[in-house]
Amino acid sequence: MIIEKISGSVKCDMASCKNKAVYSVDSKVSLSQNLNLCENCARSLYEALGRIFVPKSPQNMLSNSAKDKKRGKDEV
Ligand SMILES: [Zn+2]
Repeated sequence: MIIEKISGSVKCDMASCKNKAVYSVDSKVSLSQNLNLCENCARSLYEALGRIFVPKSPQNMLSNSAKDKKRGKDEV
């Protein structure tokens, strides 16, 4: 999947958003068929996806980083 930066006339695809799209997920069909997102919505989407695909609670992240400090970088 390719995400292009676009500058122009396409509206953000989020229905509730009236910004101009800055990022366009290439559909290989045409720009109007792409998923076009503005900076804000792209960021929100990224964060939302991050919560789905990296399901870590803040507590886990804290304890992981504490372990990492003890172990050093051996396991990375
Ligand atoms: Zn938007």
